[in-house]
Formats: sequence, structure tokens, C-alpha cells
Amino acid sequence: MTRKIIIANWKMSVNRADTTRLTRAAGVALGKCGGQADVILVSPYVYLTHVSAILPPGVILAAQDVAVPHHPKGAQTGDVSPEMLRDTGCTAVIIGHSERRSGHGETDDTVRAKVAAACAAGLTVILCVGETADQRAAGQGRNVVSGQIHAALFDQPNIRPDSVMVAYEPVWAISGGGGQTAALEDIGSIHQFLANYIETTLAPLRGMRLLYGGSVRPDNASVILSLPYVDGVLVGGASLDADALSEIIRAGCAASRP
Ligand code: PEP
Repeated sequence: MTRKIIIANWKMSVNRADTTRLTRAAGVALGKCGGQADVILVSPYVYLTHVSAILPPGVILAAQDVAVPHHPKGAQTGDVSPEMLRDTGCTAVIIGHSERRSGHGETDDTVRAKVAAACAAGLTVILCVGETADQRAAGQGRNVVSGQIHAALFDQPNIRPDSVMVAYEPVWAISGGGGQTAALEDIGSIHQFLANYIETTLAPLRGMRLLYGGSVRPDNASVILSLPYVDGVLVGGASLDADALSEIIRAGCAASRP
């Protein structure tokens, strides 16, 4: 069965009560469609333990970032290591989100080091890549995105195709970063390009899943999920609304093939 992946990234937009409500809604929606999609809830650090305790069957818990530990444990005030994430019940982590690249100065080297640390600890990596509006206007989109993927994943030990997925998120299409609507043809063609790039340049990661993110909502989720080379969606804003999240999960189940 080809299972679509629905990722809900709650960013810094939730409190504890919201995480309870949204986690329960996700579980109900997934249960009603027979658990036919992979649902990943991406919580702020402070609520990971809480969400873990109420995580419905079949739902995966992820963090929004991770630190590179300089020692197995020790003096890194404010940092959270991959092992600490695992200890909360978390099994996946977003790395390289554009909001961390732009707002926290994360470079390709930082992202690569985080990917290595997360994979070594057995976490599934959700690697976010995407070009800015200026890079797109300069015709650099494909180079930027393939460069980010290469920098993060090429020749990394401990990585298998099922331990990492790439979320293509054009910065200009993310609701907090421009919110322009990406044309379906553009999503389709860049995903095809990326699938081909992985096949030819990152052969050991052949089969790695490719997701799309950027203003995905209930009214466009089905059609995006039906595009070739789109294995799932990463949802920000719409994942904060229980009804919208449930509808997108239903779309993910419907688009999963036996
Ligand atoms: C994101 O920030 O990863 C994202 C996809 O956000 P939104 O769905 O709100 O555009």
C-alpha cells in the first residue's frame, strides 16, 4: 500500500489545551478512515511529553528542531538532544525549516550536522528545503533546493530511504512567508525534478519520500496529494484548526492506494 503522509506542524502557535484538542481530533479522523495514512504531529518541545501520553494509535510524534550534542549529555544550556527527544516518545524531527534557516541563521552545514545527529539516534528526519521568492525570481529555485538536499544528505552515514523524508516548501508559498499559491504544475514539475535528482545523485536514498508544504488547506489537499511524486503534505496554519486538520487527514487516507 502507498500511504500518504500528513504532517501537522504546530510551530509556536499552540498551548497545552490546543495540543490536546488537535491530537484527539487527529486520532478520531485517522481512526475513521481505517488508519490508512501516516499522521505526524509536530509539537513544540514543551508539550512533547504531554502529547506523547495521549498519542492515538498509529499517530507519530515529532519535534520541530533538535540540537547537535557535543557530548552524549552535558553543558549545552537550552539545547535538546536527539536522545532527549526519544525519551519523550518522539520518533521524528523536522530539520531545516525555512523559519529556522532565516530566523536562526541555520546554514546548510548546521542542517547537515543536525541530520547526522538525529539519524544516529534513530529519529526519522523530515528535512525541509525550499527557495525564497528572490531566488525563484532569479531562476535559481531548482539549484537552491537540490543544493540544500545535497548538502544535508549526500554521503551521510546512518541514513536509509525510510529514515528521512524531504518536504519541499517554497518559502514564498508558506502562509507566514508570503502565502502565494503555488501552481499545481509547478509543484508537480519540481517534485518530478527532485525525484529524478535523488535517483541520479543520491542513489542510496532512492525511494525516499517527497512531501509538499506551503498553504495546504482542506480545499487543495486532495489535488496536491494526487500529484505524481507527492507522497504527502506538511501543513502549518491549517493544522491548527481541528476540522481542517481532520479533513486533510481524510484526504490523505483517500489518496493512499492499496
Ligand atoms: C510550514 O511553515 O511549514 C507550512 C507549510 O506552513 P503553512 O501551511 O501555514 O503555509
